[in-house]
Amino acid sequence: MSSKNADVVIVGGGVIGCSIAYQLAKQGIRATVLECGRFGSGASGATAGVIGPIWHLDPAHKAVFGLGIRSLDLFPRLASELTEAGVDPEFQHRGILKVAFTPAQVDELKQNLTWQGELGLGVKWLEAAEIRNLEPEVSDELLGGVFSPREGCVNGQRLVDALVHAATGLGAVFLEETEVTSLEISGQNVVGVRTLTGSYQCGHTVLAAGPWTGIPGRWLPQDLPISPVKGQRILLRKPGFLPKCPVRSFEGYVVPQADGSLLVASTREEGVFDVRITADAIRQLLAKATGLFPALEDASFVGARAGVRPGSPDGIPIMGPLPGWDGVSIACGHDHAGVMLSPGSAELVARYISDGDPRSLEAFSISRFDAPASQ
Ligand SMILES: Cc1cc2nc3c(=O)[nH]c(=O)nc-3n(C[C@H](O)[C@H](O)[C@H](O)COP(=O)(O)OP(=O)(O)OC[C@H]3O[C@@H](n4cnc5c(N)ncnc54)[C@H](O)[C@@H]3O)c2cc1C
Repeated sequence: MSSKNADVVIVGGGVIGCSIAYQLAKQGIRATVLECGRFGSGASGATAGVIGPIWHLDPAHKAVFGLGIRSLDLFPRLASELTEAGVDPEFQHRGILKVAFTPAQVDELKQNLTWQGELGLGVKWLEAAEIRNLEPEVSDELLGGVFSPREGCVNGQRLVDALVHAATGLGAVFLEETEVTSLEISGQNVVGVRTLTGSYQCGHTVLAAGPWTGIPGRWLPQDLPISPVKGQRILLRKPGFLPKCPVRSFEGYVVPQADGSLLVASTREEGVFDVRITADAIRQLLAKATGLFPALEDASFVGARAGVRPGSPDGIPIMGPLPGWDGVSIACGHDHAGVMLSPGSAELVARYISDGDPRSLEAFSISRFDAPASQ
């Protein structure tokens, strides 16, 4: 059994762990990322990769919405840095179109336009005829929609691969097939981690193991409130047909991929912790796809994939120190939005690790779940 030293150990090589390692590496802090499978083998490689904070984050929760907008701002530069370093994450920056099929959906989209317009991101209403000009194959039944030009999508697996590649170039260490079996604890300090082949002593450990962060008793005597939310998605291909940008109905997404295929997303299965592809999910996803684009009836079926999102009790990430413990923090619970929140989350967590000041992570603190003291 070997024993090694590292400044920072990150448990989990998904988009969150790898983004934190990249941000730390840019600040000259060399993290070691330990991944029990392959990088991106969890939700991050199964994601739809939509970068759409306006559609997916609650504007009433200012901290998480702000993190989404910050991440949206960071993505273009991040994508060019990663591409320059050698791996293109296939970031597409051509907007997102959300369409309505019923008068009630039209009303909802138009009501949201009031606050969306105030963001200064160019979000605008499009009549059905204008949408058909943009996307001629879209269903005749749609009544109109909203176009948000600054949002986009990325290939989740390519983003993880690009982060690993770029951070390695800056001195970070990434190990696959290396399962962390427990934390090394001395008093109230986490001083390292154990794997099947040896241990790592480190100044700081980040728990970024996606839904596995919530396995009871796995890491610390107290349980961490992360729960599994399974999602399935499929890939279709129809030669000569590719929407210009991700198109969303109230039921699901069709997301164009750089290789010419179409990703159709997704199911949401609360509490399910497996990656089985089910016939029912495929049926639902095909209905979402053909509801938006009837021409996809004769598309080829390319494949399907499932992943397990890391859910939190209020759907908002849990990031920062774990009260009562030194030398450890958590970066998890990003649920349906881990890709779109990854650059901003990594920025905050890396800053906390380097300066020890947790204030910018306060809104994401695990302390928000503490039971109020009884009177
Ligand atoms: C179908 C689907 C569609 C989605 N669509 C979107 C979308 O459009 N936009 C968006 O922003 N988000 C989307 N998401 C959500 C997003 O993918 C997740 O929020 C994000 O990938 C979570 O990243 P993570 O790094 O926290 O977790 P994960 O990607 O699960 O990474 C955690 C890693 O930890 C590893 N690990 C676990 N235990 C250990 C251990 N003991 N030792 C070492 N390693 C360990 C796992 O193998 C895994 O690789 C989608 C998810 C799914 C499933």
